[in-house]
Amino acid sequence: MAKETTKKTTTTAKKPAKKATTSKAKAKPVVEQAVVEPTSVPRDPGVADKLIALSRLQETYTKIDHIKTLRGELPLEVQDLEDELAGMETRLKHLEEDNKRQKQGIATEKARIVDAEEKIQRYKEQLNNVKNNREYDNLAKEIEFQGLEIELSQKRINEGNVDLQQRSERISELKSTIAERRTALEAKQEELARIKNETKQEEEALRAEAISLEEGIEERLLHAFSRIREGARNGLAVVPIDRDACGGCFNKIPPQRQVDLKLHKKIIVCEYCGRILVDPELIEEAHQHP
Ligand SMILES: [Zn+2]
Repeated sequence: MAKETTKKTTTTAKKPAKKATTSKAKAKPVVEQAVVEPTSVPRDPGVADKLIALSRLQETYTKIDHIKTLRGELPLEVQDLEDELAGMETRLKHLEEDNKRQKQGIATEKARIVDAEEKIQRYKEQLNNVKNNREYDNLAKEIEFQGLEIELSQKRINEGNVDLQQRSERISELKSTIAERRTALEAKQEELARIKNETKQEEEALRAEAISLEEGIEERLLHAFSRIREGARNGLAVVPIDRDACGGCFNKIPPQRQVDLKLHKKIIVCEYCGRILVDPELIEEAHQHP
């Protein structure tokens, strides 16, 4: 309590010093009146009320913004998961098609081996009945050729089986990832539906509150509030002073401006970001006596 009083005394001591330099030409009584006023009537109730109303409006909008943020991120997350899943499903489809083709290829090679073995068998029988060396050589070459064909087919089958094995492993990994993502997606979809459901009423109530608060604020101020809010990245148009700095942009507030702010003689904006500054004590008081 003692600190409060000293603060207020320094306040009044500084005030005239500045006024005297800035408006030297003006009559002294005006300055003196300004000196007296803050000590006897510490706050202009009009301005303080306006600031309280604006702070309340800000709080209401901040709550609405928060709801929007909650919801605003979830649909994006759901969308991302859906896109990711669609990509995985396509990859899975391609892998399965590749495996199917490969199996057909292996079957073809197996059929070729059977065919070549039959040919070899036939040529070997014919070898017993050859009439001359040329015929013998031709048959021997054919048998050798079919033997090479069998080796080639066997090689293709072996390679194909390795591919098939590796691809099947990728398919089963992909399938489990898909199942995992699908579970995550379903959880997010449910969460989004729940939030939408839950916050619907809350948001409607907050909007109604904002409208009724706006009715009590003069047009000019409301216009300024909306303009500042739109320009501010965090949606804050009204901010408290926090450790001598603007609660919106965190730039230091000059001491004289802080003094002026405490007096509630007029609405003061941050000279850096243009946000409406409020004394945190005033907000606290407003919370205690709503
Ligand atoms: Zn600022």
